[in-house]
Amino acid sequence: MLTVPPGRPTFCSIDLEALRWNFRQIKQKVGPQVRVLSMVKANAYGHGALAVAQTLANEGSDAFGVATVEEAVELRQATIRQPIIVVAGAYVEQCRQFLEYGLTPVIHDLKTLKSFEAAVKRQSATLAIHLEIDTGMGRTGFLAAEVNHWTAELRKLKALRIEGVFSHFSDAETANEAYSENQLRNFESVIASLRNAGVTPSHVHMAKSAALLTIPGSHFSMVRPGLALYGVYPSPQLAKEISLKPVLSWNTRILQLKRVPSGTSLGYGRTFVTKRKSLIATLPVGYADGYQRIFSDRAAVLVRGRRAPVAGRISMDLTTIDVTDIDEVQQGDEVTLLGRQGDVTISADEMASWANTISYEILTSIGARVPRIHNHS
Ligand SMILES: *Cc1c(COP(=O)(O)O)cnc(C)c1O
Repeated sequence: MLTVPPGRPTFCSIDLEALRWNFRQIKQKVGPQVRVLSMVKANAYGHGALAVAQTLANEGSDAFGVATVEEAVELRQATIRQPIIVVAGAYVEQCRQFLEYGLTPVIHDLKTLKSFEAAVKRQSATLAIHLEIDTGMGRTGFLAAEVNHWTAELRKLKALRIEGVFSHFSDAETANEAYSENQLRNFESVIASLRNAGVTPSHVHMAKSAALLTIPGSHFSMVRPGLALYGVYPSPQLAKEISLKPVLSWNTRILQLKRVPSGTSLGYGRTFVTKRKSLIATLPVGYADGYQRIFSDRAAVLVRGRRAPVAGRISMDLTTIDVTDIDEVQQGDEVTLLGRQGDVTISADEMASWANTISYEILTSIGARVPRIHNHS
């Protein structure tokens, strides 16, 4: 049974059994030789980083990836002992924190490399790092094409130890295989150049969820799944590659039910006016919870195993839905904003389509004031 928080009944339920299932499917896909660096950045894509990381650590996740030092420290101060890689930027001002908490920075350019080397040396310490190679993402990373220029600097390192080298795909979700293949070849050639220069990192990694499923040649010694761990497919055609279970559902309850005559306008801006005698339910959730305003007059929710449309503008804290066609609906009824009731589902992908975005943004936009309830079912 679900534990429901007292008071406002708007919460996310996180199914840790589904999370374990997804992790095992991924392990099975890549085989026992390949390590798994589980991406738990952005509060584990909104699922609650600590509970997710603890569950995955127990399942055998070899390492964790986060975006910021603050996210890494939260895990380290709890019970996470595995390597934690900070992927979205390392700043030399954070050097003490990397050392104190045993965190691994991703170094992406020569300037940062040199400043970290100097800072770690000043502490008479050593620090393991991962290098990011830009093979075609065009964001952070050492340019693959300039490998001969920057490898020379790597050989001078004393305080920094290159434990990992990685790259990131920019277009692995689409059918543009040629571009991904090209990135893969660029990366392989960088790894070969590094080896020739005597740089032999123990971890070489490239594959996020989509590539893990479709480009076996990109597995190297480690893979970096994010979205797939949470049971969401990076693109619909990948459903045939692996069987995943959604981990998060988002629920609330009807706060008020109101029968109104035809011609009644609902909410700010009066964008919805009833065309018939209607039964309108107000839900205690709004855009401040991440139930985005762009869902106004577009989204649907589940009530009593049926879809009910959002009617009118979504407010900061409240949302109105039209339940005229739902039999026996009651104040206090459970409402599913994301997830399943019986055989009907609202997926993160469907919500993304209403907001002209991707599932990743839907999940990471669920607000901090929505409690995450972790169930071991
Ligand atoms: C977020 C992230 C991933 C995971 O991507 P998914 O598509 O969620 O699997 C992998 N690598 C890096 C560097 C990332 O930032």
